[in-house]
Amino acid sequence: MTRIHVYAGDCTTTYHGGDGPRRERGRVVVVHKPDGTLLVHDAEGYQPVAWLTRANAVHRETDGEGGFGLVAVKDGERLRVESRADADHASYGATAAGTEVGDCPDCAGLLVRARGAVSCLDCSGEYGLPRDAATLDSTCDCGLPRMAVERGARFELCVDRDCERLDAAVRERFDREWSCPDCDGDLRVLRERTLFLGCENHPDCETTFALPDREVVGICECGLPRVRSDDSTDADESASGAEPAYPADARCLDPDCTETPETV
Ligand SMILES: [Zn+2]
Ligand SMILES: [Zn+2]
Ligand SMILES: [Zn+2]
Ligand SMILES: [Zn+2]
Repeated sequence: MTRIHVYAGDCTTTYHGGDGPRRERGRVVVVHKPDGTLLVHDAEGYQPVAWLTRANAVHRETDGEGGFGLVAVKDGERLRVESRADADHASYGATAAGTEVGDCPDCAGLLVRARGAVSCLDCSGEYGLPRDAATLDSTCDCGLPRMAVERGARFELCVDRDCERLDAAVRERFDREWSCPDCDGDLRVLRERTLFLGCENHPDCETTFALPDREVVGICECGLPRVRSDDSTDADESASGAEPAYPADARCLDPDCTETPETV
């Protein structure tokens, strides 16, 4: 496990940035994070008196009697902290901190969601999430939590992409579902960094669209899906009794589409 190092004592802090060195002396606590971030805290406020975020390198020297020297460098910046007296040092195992989302099936540790991933506090288990994923209370057969993502429909999947693949689920649902408005081709579900719709007649036809990020509620005369527009609310949905072919406020995936009716 990665560790956070904490140093304390009467220190001199020297910061070299754009405009000359800045020097402070006082009894401080220095936090050295595993990502190279160095924070020097004095007695007040949440803000460090000096810091360097994600330094390229942090060198540290200890003298065996608690005394220490730390130098963090990043591009044109340099932060140096040197203990003078009463110095002490300790280190602790550290993880990301986030919302509890379940138990790890590998080690029974706690899983938390933080910084775009679900990770275990006790083992190296880590599962990257799509940015808009909502973690669910339900559990996959493998023991991991499930998540929901909106890609033209609501997809509920395991957070582990090796267990259930979002790409495969979206493809199964929407590959060749809609036709290209510019030729007679079908739109395929493709991925280059993100999932998108691209014409099967590429490279002759270069038409592409982003996958809808909300529910598909019909098909436009042009062949593309119609999706719920921004201002339609859940309250409207629950109020309507019979499902219409598509809500009056549905819009074509192509914002420039001329087939979109002004009124229905
Ligand atoms: Zn674990
Ligand atoms: Zn699973
Ligand atoms: Zn096409
Ligand atoms: Zn259209």
